[in-house]
Amino acid sequence: MPPTEPLPAPGLLPAPAVAGSEPATASDTASDTASDTASDTASDTASETPGDMASGARPLGPADVRALAARLGLRPTKKLGQNFVHDPNTVRRIARLAELEPDEVVLEIGPGLGSLTLALLPAAAAVLAVEIDPVLAGALPATVAERAPTLADRLTVLTMDALRLRAEQLPSPPTAVVANLPYNVGVPVLLHVLEVLPSLRHGLVMIQSEVVDRLAAGPGGREYGAPSAKLAWYAEARRAGPVPRAVFWPVPGVDSALLSVRRRAEPAQEAGAEVTRAAVFAVVDAAFAQRRKSLRGALAGWAGSPVAAEQVLRAAGVDPSTRAERLSVADFTRIAAARGPCGSAAGPHT
Ligand code: SAM
Repeated sequence: MPPTEPLPAPGLLPAPAVAGSEPATASDTASDTASDTASDTASDTASETPGDMASGARPLGPADVRALAARLGLRPTKKLGQNFVHDPNTVRRIARLAELEPDEVVLEIGPGLGSLTLALLPAAAAVLAVEIDPVLAGALPATVAERAPTLADRLTVLTMDALRLRAEQLPSPPTAVVANLPYNVGVPVLLHVLEVLPSLRHGLVMIQSEVVDRLAAGPGGREYGAPSAKLAWYAEARRAGPVPRAVFWPVPGVDSALLSVRRRAEPAQEAGAEVTRAAVFAVVDAAFAQRRKSLRGALAGWAGSPVAAEQVLRAAGVDPSTRAERLSVADFTRIAAARGPCGSAAGPHT
């Protein structure tokens, strides 16, 4: 959850900006990736376009979001990261950048009032929406029935915490995750679904801008840390553009951005190493817990002593005087593997 401005009750809201009219959208996106140009945004200025009508889904504009929230008596909470997108341009852009094939099954975490859901339904064979707030989850089928009646049978809603999601709870294996994530649990949710849903091949998620930079960072920089190395275990990740604050209600106190992920072969398979993901993540956590220390010192507790750490590091071909921020996930995998068959000389790792 991003720190947000005070959250007014829906009835007290100032009228949101007209959909698609925010100059921030055009200028902000123009300054970022090539795929997010000002002309993309400029061509998409009405809240409901002929394209939407052809797609069979009417998007939620600012007045719709306000009316729906008021009807539900919704008071967005910081605890659940409830900042809703009220700009049809933004959800169209997310659906487009997600590069969905028509036969894909999309997992959407936190559909909220349904803004993004309505953009995803025309683009995929099915949308599996996992929402923790029972009021929002309960209202979503009616919103979709009203605004996308011909696509309503593509939607499945699960009322639950996405951090507890298991593959067997879903009616079919999702191939893509597309979400405006609740920022307070964005990273753990993303890592969790990549872990428990091996069917996920790719995704596009919105999170806090600085978190996107950290997740997409490679070894060597200040932004690279345990979350970057863990995400790299599952996927290649890249920043896919900024999202202006003005597209949300309530307006968050932080900047947002899009992160694109694409599943990769697990580093252990690539290295032919017999080591579990949990064992590799244990090394990552230990190494970054004291990221200013040399690995010899940082991994002393994990290995049993500085001398044992040095032995394991040398066996893995890693310089013991190096710091964690210089190591790729493949390096961490070799270190865990060098310690023993399951990444642990002392026994199985959790
Ligand atoms: N997708 C909507 C949109 O773009 O307008 C809402 C996005 S809002 C940032 C995050 C949503 O995630 C909220 O609807 C919130 O209730 C839901 N949420 C928060 N924590 C969750 C969790 N652990 N599992 C599932 N949904 C969660």
